[in-house]
Amino acid sequence: MAWFERCPGCGQHEANYYGLCETCYHSIYMISKGISHNADSVGRVIAATAYTKPIDEWIHRYKFKREKAWTGIFVELMRKAILENDIWSEDPLIIPVPIHKKRLKQRGFNQSELLARELATKINAMVGDYLIKTKNTQDQIELSSEKRRENLRGAIKATRPIPPVPILLVDDIITTGSTLSECAKALKEMGATEVHAVVLSATSSR
Ligand SMILES: [Zn+2]
Repeated sequence: MAWFERCPGCGQHEANYYGLCETCYHSIYMISKGISHNADSVGRVIAATAYTKPIDEWIHRYKFKREKAWTGIFVELMRKAILENDIWSEDPLIIPVPIHKKRLKQRGFNQSELLARELATKINAMVGDYLIKTKNTQDQIELSSEKRRENLRGAIKATRPIPPVPILLVDDIITTGSTLSECAKALKEMGATEVHAVVLSATSSR
């Protein structure tokens, strides 16, 4: 019997299609070119997929069951979305959305940082940790958009001056965009002029 790499989505078929099987790959709801989300202080938000089955479950497994094999697959989806929405005149500096150190300890890793580092390698861009989360905020998912903004106010800081190049923030999920907005504001306070974002998945509850 020939050995093949199994698709992490279904665990059955051969992973011969961007790290998945063809069926699983085509079951992802891709967001087509030009559709993006808005977030204050962020120029353009590129979302690769809609947060629906099956990718919502895969992201959950990635974050909470530490299935890090998803990194390459997710980054491929983000890379494709970036190529379809190419907006930079020069190479962007990639910055991951930070998590609080207590959260990092619980989870063991920051998924946005893993995605950012892998993406930087794939698109041949620089990546840097310029942001920290200074407040361990309540889980955003439970909150209304008004409460989210309140919850996050002043929770993210830039730690050093930002070079004058386009910034590309990286996060796994966008819901209201308030996290990306806080990041962009913090970066602009430290000299950033142009801040965009790429996210793996966008929820519809906005
Ligand atoms: Zn599959």
